[in-house]
Amino acid sequence: MTAIEAGLQDLRRQHPEWEPWLAVVQEALHETTNPEWDALIPVRSEAHQGKIPLLAGTTLFLEKRSIRRLLEKLIVIAHRSGTPKMATLQPALHGELDFLNLFKASLYLDRDRLRDTAAHLGADSEALQAVAALLPLPLLQACNRRWASSKSVSWTEGYCPVCGAWPAFAEMRGIERSRYFRCGRCGGEWQTRALFCPYCGMIDHNKLVSLVPEKSGSNSVIDACKRCLGYVKTFTTLQGSPPAKILLDDLATAHLDVAALEQGYKRPEGTGYSLDITLTEKA
Ligand SMILES: [Zn+2]
Ligand SMILES: [Zn+2]
Repeated sequence: MTAIEAGLQDLRRQHPEWEPWLAVVQEALHETTNPEWDALIPVRSEAHQGKIPLLAGTTLFLEKRSIRRLLEKLIVIAHRSGTPKMATLQPALHGELDFLNLFKASLYLDRDRLRDTAAHLGADSEALQAVAALLPLPLLQACNRRWASSKSVSWTEGYCPVCGAWPAFAEMRGIERSRYFRCGRCGGEWQTRALFCPYCGMIDHNKLVSLVPEKSGSNSVIDACKRCLGYVKTFTTLQGSPPAKILLDDLATAHLDVAALEQGYKRPEGTGYSLDITLTEKA
């Protein structure tokens, strides 16, 4: 059994009520192994520049057909789940939807544009946003694979060096307890100092607190920042998670997000860096 299958099985056991949604997540993760996406990623020859994520400013030549195929799969599975909200996504398959624009809004995590698209389709906004968050994962994970050797090893920003997203969580790895941020979108990782708020750059230990919720066990804490009120879940582990499993690790520790929210902390919306990508339909 792969780490992904085991992760899904654990989640299904712990949260049987999540099954309809886990089926959609499973399909999106399965698609991350499709080599079709790797072929769309441009070759990089130049060195990684300063604070700019590798994806920012690139031109991607996409096929509407690939985006449509994936969106259809996700919506059909979501529809089958029978939740009334998910069922409202059905018109997206039949209407005159601009797939490239939807994909761009998904890449940017642009809530306003996704809300407008949902209103235009007569679909439930939350359901569309949830599916849209999964839509770019196969492309982003392909970026992380294809650009692995271009990535700066001295990256010190709080957002992902590949795709500009905020970290899904941090890992304290091995006996030396090196701290790595992990990206829930492209699956990337970047090493960071032990005390550092990814959102506002705070390094003063007086402003950074570790919250240990009762239920969390000894391997996970919430690292929170008293200045910007952001937080990062931090897991102690021997090895880093495989890229496609990060989303599952994030879901499996949803109780920590609830605990952080109850303490008045939150994760920022959108991406950490404004990406400015040009999407062009492949000829
Ligand atoms: Zn990333
Ligand atoms: Zn902060």
